[in-house]
Amino acid sequence: MNAPILQLHNISYSYHSLDGEIPALTDISFSVRQGEFLAVVGPSGCGKSTLLSIIARLLTPEGGTIAFRNPDGSLNYPKTGYMLQHDHLLEWRTILGNVTLGLEINRQKTPERIAFAEKLLEDYDLYKFKDKHPGELSGGMRQRAALIRTLVMNPDILLLDEPFSALDYQTRLAVSGDIGNIIRTTGKTAILITHDLSEAISLADRIIILTGRPATVKKEVAVTLTKTDDSLLAARSAPEFQHYFNLLWKELSHEKP
Ligand code: ADP
Repeated sequence: MNAPILQLHNISYSYHSLDGEIPALTDISFSVRQGEFLAVVGPSGCGKSTLLSIIARLLTPEGGTIAFRNPDGSLNYPKTGYMLQHDHLLEWRTILGNVTLGLEINRQKTPERIAFAEKLLEDYDLYKFKDKHPGELSGGMRQRAALIRTLVMNPDILLLDEPFSALDYQTRLAVSGDIGNIIRTTGKTAILITHDLSEAISLADRIIILTGRPATVKKEVAVTLTKTDDSLLAARSAPEFQHYFNLLWKELSHEKP
């Protein structure tokens, strides 16, 4: 089993507003291994996005420690990719222009990196749309383009904050399956926040269940599904699927939003 590349130890965080202190996270501890796909579920408003912002180092925890490590155990600041509910593609740029935006901003738009972006577009069936604009693509294709924009930067860890929740149900099923497979084939470490229990079970290796606010880890569930292939349908048809669903439902039904 791979070594942990991310370790959170007793993380706590509160927001401070004119109305007073809003404790969002308390005593959160867990680790994530290289190449692992972790899902985080919890009641709405419990602190899931706050947790992701701390992992992305957009917020500094008030208490506890967070450590990123290389596979040899040395400390590291990983390159982090973020994917949100909305794709935030720039409508006036082409798809290729969008997926190479990060390279441009970071002055890394070399022929090799552009070729890498084009290869990703080719691998994930968007190459023939590279000169189109986002408005000409379906919601699912846009979300795939958003993932490619992130992968082009070659992140060590992908943070996914409800990335499928703006999509209609059918597209959501197709796109979450596609994106799950892309992440697995690229061997990336991923942390997915979702309120969709079926999505968490079908995509993740392990699920962290958070309590109501201030969130702490209520339970960790390792997911093992007997699948005939890598499709989302195979995951959802696995004999163990209902067991995990019932377990998560039971744990969460005791938590107040
Ligand atoms: P979740 O992602 O689980 O829905 P969040 O992490 O977005 O929850 O928010 C956790 C709690 O912190 C919520 O009660 C929310 O209202 C509060 N909160 C989030 N951002 C701020 C902020 N900038 N200022 C004050 N309170 C905030």
